[in-house]
Amino acid sequence: MKPRDRLRIAMQKSGRLTEPALDLLNRCGLTFRQSRDKLFCFGEGEPVDLLLVRDDDIPGLIAQGVCDLGIVGRNVLDEFRCTASEDVAALTEWRPLGFGRCRLSVAVPQDMDYRQPQDLGGLRIATSYPGLLNHWLKAQSVDAAVVTLAGSVEIAPKLGTADAICDLVQSGGTLVANQLRETDVLLESEAVLAGPQALPTDERGDMINLLLKRLDGVIQVRESRLLLLQTSRTALDAVTRLLPGGPQPTLLPVAGQPDQLMLQALCAGEVSWRQLEEIKKAGAREMFVLPVEKMLA
Ligand code: ATP
Ligand code: MG
Repeated sequence: MKPRDRLRIAMQKSGRLTEPALDLLNRCGLTFRQSRDKLFCFGEGEPVDLLLVRDDDIPGLIAQGVCDLGIVGRNVLDEFRCTASEDVAALTEWRPLGFGRCRLSVAVPQDMDYRQPQDLGGLRIATSYPGLLNHWLKAQSVDAAVVTLAGSVEIAPKLGTADAICDLVQSGGTLVANQLRETDVLLESEAVLAGPQALPTDERGDMINLLLKRLDGVIQVRESRLLLLQTSRTALDAVTRLLPGGPQPTLLPVAGQPDQLMLQALCAGEVSWRQLEEIKKAGAREMFVLPVEKMLA
């Protein structure tokens, strides 16, 4: 294959990961001459182009060197790693990206008497992830028949083509709608940045390193929240103890109220209603949780 000097990233052409992946790349300062219905998008500022494909093809394209990186679900990447032949380049997960979260789980009919994985012995399990399922069955020393289906796995028990399923679950609504019960989680998944274990040694390697640094900044900011609140000096200790992780808060005086303080804290993740209610109970009031747009330390 001809050596390339531009970086090429594979991502899903149309599906759950498309919008968030594109949004993430945009936030990293990458923009593309948009032709989302086409296969190829040319990068405008940086020497980075996109290849838009079916998500199942992404690991193979990286392994073959057609693309340098890919944005793909961990479920698809790990299935590829389970089933790829020995001579295929080893792939790795460079960064978890925090969207497209779901889990790969075993589910059985609600009325089945299931207590442990061994109860699956001798049964037929339908899945689109035969590699990951076989790997798990082996680890559990369970001898079951794996029925590989390309889609509509959840209706297999109703159709009588399988006794149980192993499929992606997000809210669990699809399982309930099909009278199935989730029993075992095989894999916690989210979109990841996948690439070869060894980075290219040319300019593309430098570009990947630059992209990884920008990604880290974007992910950190995306998950940060600025918490603002007022508290009395006497409640300050109790309030501070309840603050979600992050650097030390900043304290500011409140004009005309010497016993009151304004507290400002950068939190590393979501701040839930429950956490806010606890902090309020400890003596805080006038609480605000704000998203952080950009951060330069
Ligand atoms: P393609 O046409 O690209 O093959 P697809 O139908 O295989 O598309 P999508 O349904 O768009 O793929 O899902 C893409 C990824 O989104 C999954 O591989 C998984 O990582 C993630 N995902 C998150 N939640 C779910 C869910 N509830 N069901 C399926 N996938 C989910
Ligand atoms: Mg697919």
